[in-house]
Amino acid sequence: MSTPLTALPAAPAAPPPAWIEIDLDALAENHARLTGLMRAHNPAAEVTGVIKADGYGLGADIVGPALARAGAPALFVAHLSEGAALRRALRADPDPARHALPVYILNGMAEGERADFLAFDLRPVLNGPDDLDRWTRAGQAQGGPLPAALHIDTGMSRLGFDEAGFKALAADPARLGGVDIRITMSHLACADDPAHPLNRRQLDRFRAVTAVVGRGRLSLANSSGLFLGPDFHFDLGRPGVALYGVNPVPGHPNPMVPVVRLKARVLQVRTIDSFESVGYGAAARARPGMRVATLAIGYADGWPWSAAGKGEVVIAGHRAPILGRVSMDLVTVDVSTLPEPLIHGGAVAELIGDHRDIDALAKDAGTIGYEILTRLGRRYARQPMTSGQTQVYPIGVPTPQTEVDPAP
Ligand SMILES: *Cc1c(COP(=O)(O)O)cnc(C)c1O
Repeated sequence: MSTPLTALPAAPAAPPPAWIEIDLDALAENHARLTGLMRAHNPAAEVTGVIKADGYGLGADIVGPALARAGAPALFVAHLSEGAALRRALRADPDPARHALPVYILNGMAEGERADFLAFDLRPVLNGPDDLDRWTRAGQAQGGPLPAALHIDTGMSRLGFDEAGFKALAADPARLGGVDIRITMSHLACADDPAHPLNRRQLDRFRAVTAVVGRGRLSLANSSGLFLGPDFHFDLGRPGVALYGVNPVPGHPNPMVPVVRLKARVLQVRTIDSFESVGYGAAARARPGMRVATLAIGYADGWPWSAAGKGEVVIAGHRAPILGRVSMDLVTVDVSTLPEPLIHGGAVAELIGDHRDIDALAKDAGTIGYEILTRLGRRYARQPMTSGQTQVYPIGVPTPQTEVDPAP
């Protein structure tokens, strides 16, 4: 007889085969560093948090409340569904002061979404005249102007009031009378390339348009934009990726501290006897006597297929090179040089950590840190931690009860 559905546990109680450790102290430290950068020139400046795509893959329910505790005065997501989930997470915070933290929806409010925006207390980013009209009507129905952000396109040609939309607004600023604009914002296209002339052009345009229609606090800079100099800061920083430890100044030392560690268990260890290759496509050559460990992580977990055969993992403080192609659920590593007692089923391999950060992995995979983060899969456990902590899951195999960080 099988267990009735109502008696089944919601999820397995056993520890997960792969997990992400999220250092919330490091996240707060990155928020504080960016705040310090802005306040050196403008003591009233504040740093919001961009946590779209489920907190850049880390879990918006984890990083959202943590950034609120760190002092972010507002959070940005892209979709209504993300905003609704975030509001639920904020409302669960023990401190009621954070329950009503402003949450902005970057993609704006579509037709038919008004009731949800009101129910979840969300603010749209108004990206054009239609958005403005829709939010004006929502305010009329509610008995007064409702809070929102105004987004002006200054050169990215993506979202925001375009040239014609802005001119219409500038000719008749009274059209803004039916909404309560708290932030006037624009977005930089080339902030990670300080020498690009578009940065200065966007800055000049932002100054010109905000002189005419600027309402509330002004916000231009994403992570990299904050490093273009104080001219780009205005009132509110809008960083995402730098908060999570990705380098906002490519080609220079990373001014942020790492937030993410990615770990997976060893499933099996084998000694190569007569076989000559490892994995799909027989892409890796095996030598007799080589020892191969198979890890419980694959491209379905966001470990990039394109990084096949590149880089190393760390097992019990020792480096093991990654071998061959990445499978859907598995990665193989060469553990021939590691002391044998350390490598066994259940041992823990660190894939992202001090030895290999998100930027290094992205380079090997031919992509950007943003994509590595946002593709982190749904099968991982996401484990918030404090600095210096390392997760130890008790398991039924001989494993050290405390794991020592490989870092000195
Ligand atoms: C994603 C996004 C940000 C944050 O960008 P990062 O480069 O991750 O700092 C800021 N503003 C807007 C409009 C965005 O879409």
